[in-house]
Amino acid sequence: MATLIAVIVLGQASVPIARQIVDALPNATLYGLEHRTTGVDVSFTQFGETVRELFTQGTAIVGICAAGILIRTIAPLLSNKWQEPPVIAMAEDGSAVVPLLGGLQGVNDLARQIATVVEVVPAITTTGDIRFRTALLSPPNGYRLVNPDDAKTFLAELLAGATVKIEGSAPWLEKSQLPIADDAKLTIKITTEAVQGSSECLVYQSSKRLAIIGTGPGSAEWMSPQVKAVLRNSTDWIGYQTYLNLVEPLRTYQNLHIFDNREELDRAALALDLAAQGRSVVMVSSGDPGIYAMAAAVFEVLERDAKPDWQTIEIQVCPGISAMQAAAAQVGAPLGHDFCAISLSDILKPWDTIADRICAAAKADFAIAFYNPISNTRTWQLEKAKELLLNYRSPNTPVVLARNLGRPGQQTQVKSLKDLEPTDADMRTVILIGSSQTRIFNQSESNVWVYTPRHYRKD
Ligand code: SAH
Repeated sequence: MATLIAVIVLGQASVPIARQIVDALPNATLYGLEHRTTGVDVSFTQFGETVRELFTQGTAIVGICAAGILIRTIAPLLSNKWQEPPVIAMAEDGSAVVPLLGGLQGVNDLARQIATVVEVVPAITTTGDIRFRTALLSPPNGYRLVNPDDAKTFLAELLAGATVKIEGSAPWLEKSQLPIADDAKLTIKITTEAVQGSSECLVYQSSKRLAIIGTGPGSAEWMSPQVKAVLRNSTDWIGYQTYLNLVEPLRTYQNLHIFDNREELDRAALALDLAAQGRSVVMVSSGDPGIYAMAAAVFEVLERDAKPDWQTIEIQVCPGISAMQAAAAQVGAPLGHDFCAISLSDILKPWDTIADRICAAAKADFAIAFYNPISNTRTWQLEKAKELLLNYRSPNTPVVLARNLGRPGQQTQVKSLKDLEPTDADMRTVILIGSSQTRIFNQSESNVWVYTPRHYRKD
């Protein structure tokens, strides 16, 4: 793929979307027509000349304009398809991303990257790409094509009918329609070793990767673009069935590893072992992975067991919206000032510690988010917590109960502390307890908000 990318706009209306694309791509520059655009990286006066110059230099061109304009502008220069840089036309509202030229320089991959940013399906028309349904030129994160210079000849051979064999494990090629044959002329080799390739052998070196991601509470709009990209670019997903279900719509070729035992540290070790085999593993947590979730467990076993083949794993933690944030957003801003989070589960810490923390937090007048308020086997803790809170806090303290956030059956209730009942909550509920400053007010008859003011006034 050409290293430099020019995103070209002719009017101000296209600048925001162009900027979004430039920010998402390395080596991209925003070109805007002088007098018609502001806030661009480079201003130009002559559209045709500028585009032709960039094209001749081998710069990839993304024109946020009609395909026809680009085609007519570049037409006089089209003579050698091996040297064409990628050229893409894109609709101003982001609804269409159309690769026009530069198939041998990775235009389809660039179109896919851009389409991901604007969340559409790219309009890919090249038969080779559709037939093999795979981007040999851009393997998932964690795999590096060692010999990209050989890829053009390799692809041309494939398109001309040559067969191929795969050595090693390439999950992203499993669903491709590559013409696989044991006695093939061409080879795709996947290895963790440093091996040289040739025009008949593409080599992918896999690195060991473990990304620990948070999906947010549930719905896709609360999942970060980073998390979506990491999920797409991996080979293996590991997690509880419920969490894997949340991300299933994003799955293409990834292998699933469903947790069936409750021992977190064992699961973390499993994920690290899988990554150590040279796979690109994503550990899926709901909400934020660092809040009562698997990220801490991974670091705990990583430090404790310190296996030699874990040392070279690249570990990345990708944050998500935690249940308390989603709950707060439903009702206003109850966590608008100092707050803390307490898990009411006494499986991983003794109840005495939990009780001490509830009292300390109540005394210090924090707003409090209670995670894991109740489960089938832990039924009395919430009632006890309420009792402790009432020693310090008014019976009228606002309480928010939010259940199944971002999932089917989402419910939010606001009530007073004195009215809190254990039956109000289940294991998919997060509870927010107001501080002494937290207020409930009616914007209108049907609109009730809960918030904790920015200014703290203690009597
Ligand atoms: N990592 C998660 C928390 C996991 S602990 C996060 O950051 O949100 C599990 C607890 O989180 C549940 O008992 C519940 O209290 C809360 N929780 C998780 N997802 C929720 C959701 N979708 N709606 C309401 N509460 C949720």
